[in-house]
Amino acid sequence: MGPGPSNPYPEVMEAFTRPVLGHLDPDFISLLDETNERLKQVWQTQNSLTFPVSATGSAGMETAFVNFVNPGDQVVIGVNGVFGNRMCDVAQRAGATVTRVEEEWGRAIDPQRLLDAHPDPQIIAVVHAETSTGIRNDVAPIGEAKGDALLFVDCVTSLAGIPVLIDQWNVDVAYSGTQKCLGVPPGLSPVTVSDRAMERIVEKPQSWYLDLNMIKDYVTGEGARAYHHTAPISMLYALHAGLGVVLTDGLDATWQRHQECGDALHAGLPDLGFNLWAQEGHRLPELTTVTLPEGLDDTTGRKTLLERYGIEVGGGLGPVAGKVWRIGCMGHTARLRNVKMLLGALEELVEEIG
Ligand SMILES: *Cc1c(COP(=O)(O)O)cnc(C)c1O
Repeated sequence: MGPGPSNPYPEVMEAFTRPVLGHLDPDFISLLDETNERLKQVWQTQNSLTFPVSATGSAGMETAFVNFVNPGDQVVIGVNGVFGNRMCDVAQRAGATVTRVEEEWGRAIDPQRLLDAHPDPQIIAVVHAETSTGIRNDVAPIGEAKGDALLFVDCVTSLAGIPVLIDQWNVDVAYSGTQKCLGVPPGLSPVTVSDRAMERIVEKPQSWYLDLNMIKDYVTGEGARAYHHTAPISMLYALHAGLGVVLTDGLDATWQRHQECGDALHAGLPDLGFNLWAQEGHRLPELTTVTLPEGLDDTTGRKTLLERYGIEVGGGLGPVAGKVWRIGCMGHTARLRNVKMLLGALEELVEEIG
């Protein structure tokens, strides 16, 4: 949402114009180290294995599963939207025996159900911010009582949008994406792995590219910094700059800015006939789902918003395709002026349908 469908921080776009260094240039390596240090702050972790995987958020998901799943491992996964489903698919392909803990889309998963689903799972996994429904699933209670299991959390739409406290919550493996609340274009997937999890990396993951055995020494600075693949230099400049914006503004202030926008949307939308769809108490500020007022057509409405006002909103997915809208307000676009612009545009749309 905002002026243009996708709108990263200006500092980030400027970073793309920097001269492209070689991926083994010492100046680039220090920039990478600094990026990883910044990531640790944003993840709120001391994990030495914290770095961006060179691909989008889904590659972070694959990195998590291929590196920790041995064939036949018991993996419990919470499913209340598209991304919980995707986790099951990825985990199964890695050889896991998956126990799905399903919840109705638009409702949060009870952490106790995840804890009770299997007596001795190797992994429990949940999506923190379900972008397909606008729901926040609670993570802390799972971390408190997970026992010997590793806790995996999809933070693609939560990192830098709402509090993500990796160490405090006992999260073992988490991944994110650059293009959601971090305000950077798509292309990298920040990943963090606890020391406890590092000891359980499988010997031969079913992916060469994502094999943490070949990447970890490079990241933690323990081994020789040998070539594994060519780092996407310009994307790393961009992430470095985006993290710089978040940390200069302050993580608390960044969370608060997202919260204020979410609050303003949640307050203003029902007055226009757009009712809040996600379960109260678990609504994400950065992704708001609403039902449509009577008489407003899904496709025409979104097309008009994009073409006349330059505002892109997402359509519903799965069981609510065509019935709800998903309004993202994240990263650089999470500004009250953008919320007001959207509410004004929606008011005009609603007036037009009479
Ligand atoms: C967007 C998203 C992903 C996938 O990220 P890509 O960058 O599209 O690969 C995974 N999980 C959640 C919760 C997401 O919102």
